[in-house]
Amino acid sequence: MMREWKKGLWDVLFPVAELPGMMSGLGDRWCERCGEPYEGEMPEIFRCSNCAGRRWHISRARAAYRAEGAVRELIHEFKYNKEFHHLPQLTSWLEEGFERFYAEESWDALVPVPLYPLRKREREFNQAEELARMLGRRRGLSVWKVLERVKKTETQAKLRRSERLRNQKGAFCVKSGFDLKGRRLLIIDDVFTTGATVDACAQVLHQAGAEHLAVLTVARG
Ligand SMILES: [Zn+2]
Repeated sequence: MMREWKKGLWDVLFPVAELPGMMSGLGDRWCERCGEPYEGEMPEIFRCSNCAGRRWHISRARAAYRAEGAVRELIHEFKYNKEFHHLPQLTSWLEEGFERFYAEESWDALVPVPLYPLRKREREFNQAEELARMLGRRRGLSVWKVLERVKKTETQAKLRRSERLRNQKGAFCVKSGFDLKGRRLLIIDDVFTTGATVDACAQVLHQAGAEHLAVLTVARG
């Protein structure tokens, strides 16, 4: 009873910004690579203009929600105000995406996008790592912290798209001692915007031998 009341209150306070086309299912379409949703008549499989001519290292990226409204707010509060109590809700949104797009495949591990060490010290935690850990616990999946951020990049939010792509070059490497040959890895982050960050991660994982790489985020920008 109490729980239902609380849930009702939650829905009033934080109406969820649903991704058109990703939540309502039938008849809706999204870019098969980056997951950008489109409404209306679209071929079964298509690539959006953002993806045309771009060389991706991920097979696809998916999220169940847009980074709007309550979703955007909670991510922001979690990340920048250290409002850690939002983690279960954020993980539930992440898990919705997992259930919908990735649950039927087998995965060797979840790989969180790392923060640059100095930034992690400032922030005290890595949001992607926390999300991966909680999702991993819920779904019985391993979390491999195999990536290292070796370049202090500008905050992506301040950059234009072309700058974002350049900014991530050489930003990551795979820690030594990990054999990723033939592995199927699901890269985890909070928000997918241009995909530059996660694709830079995928590139080094691929170079280290990983065979199948996809991305799951709580939301997409
Ligand atoms: Zn696309």
